[in-house]
Amino acid sequence: MLAERLKTLAPSSTLAVQAKAKALRARGVDVISFGAGEPDFDTPERIKAAAIEAMRRGETKYTEVAGIPELRAAVCAKLKRDNGLEYEPDDVLVSCGAKHTLFNMAVAILNPGDEVLIPSPYWVSYPEQARLVGGVSVGVLTREGTGFDLDPERLAAAVTPRTKAIVLNSPNNPTGAVFSVEALEAVARLAVEADLLVVSDECYEALTFEGRHVSIAALGPDVKARTLVINTCSKAYAMTGWRIGYAAGPRALIRAMTDVQSQVTSNPSSVAQWAAVEALAGPQDEVRTMVAEFDRRRHLIVDGLNRLDGVACARPRGAFYAFANVSGLFGRSSAGAAGTTRLGGSLDVAAFLLEAARVAVVPGLDFGSDAHVRLSYATSDALIREGLARMDAAIRQLR
Ligand code: PMP
Ligand code: GLU
Repeated sequence: MLAERLKTLAPSSTLAVQAKAKALRARGVDVISFGAGEPDFDTPERIKAAAIEAMRRGETKYTEVAGIPELRAAVCAKLKRDNGLEYEPDDVLVSCGAKHTLFNMAVAILNPGDEVLIPSPYWVSYPEQARLVGGVSVGVLTREGTGFDLDPERLAAAVTPRTKAIVLNSPNNPTGAVFSVEALEAVARLAVEADLLVVSDECYEALTFEGRHVSIAALGPDVKARTLVINTCSKAYAMTGWRIGYAAGPRALIRAMTDVQSQVTSNPSSVAQWAAVEALAGPQDEVRTMVAEFDRRRHLIVDGLNRLDGVACARPRGAFYAFANVSGLFGRSSAGAAGTTRLGGSLDVAAFLLEAARVAVVPGLDFGSDAHVRLSYATSDALIREGLARMDAAIRQLR
């Protein structure tokens, strides 16, 4: 019954880990989840109030497919204010989350067999979305020793006549890397020389703790003309459930993506769009408060992970993930309900931590690195401490 493409589709493992932890909790199992890549804060009151006000005004109908003019104008103002980028509202498309923005882009640009360069480790949805439309994802390794910075030489070596685009994500999910300006400049030159579209996923921009977030589109008109800048309200404003993401870029591409969206979802929720206007255009104080909190937790979890025997975690510079190298645990054995298991990869480590420590993490294999597991620290200090203590106790029982 199902299409061929479903034979290779891997469902989102980040969402799956989150769902599994929730289901276990509903059954009364006390699981601590480091799976969810979503802020634990509530959406700020001023944003909720704007949505309620919009509903009362009757903003409950279809809107322009690409988003209400007020929101597209707010996106342009945000890109100018935070990134020094000039766009007009016709260069902007608002979608049902940045994940939807990215899928519109994949549908709009990829022919079967077209290749997309994806620096690895990568967020789980990039390769799957490319594959869904017949594209080929080409993972290009970054090095742990450089803090997983972009590797322009390896990227250049991976370009073929079929390469269509390169997907950049800084701050990075899962590694927490903030790409250096030097590497971004080299990749900008490569994109121009090799005639590539640059997809710059800047969803974690607000969560930059060290270094400075620079949009590759700001490095010059040549690269800007071939870059699609993508961002979301999900992370900076704790609005994951509202589903508002957006893109700005070359007008012909934005128009094509808008046409795709017009046949698939039409506009994103009208009420959520009004909330997003307030999020982007209103006072940004809560963002700073949340960022300071995440920054504190970052040190708490990374220091704790590095105290675990067999675990090493480089300090992430952005986003809210710790990408811990657990290869020091490989070869050790655990005695569990299903007998003795020898830990051989990140899937084993994640399964072991869930069973023996009741701690949920996402296996690195899904992000392209079997030596790691990802922990989201968008959770409370108390849960971080308790989770670390449980992992410590479980690891001590390994032989
Ligand atoms: N890009 C990255 C790197 C992400 O981690 C996520 C997940 N939140 C998204 C895009 C999509 O976010 P959303 O669809 O909630 O806007
Ligand atoms: N992006 C978040 C994560 O990586 C949320 C889940 C998802 O959309 O994949 O955990």
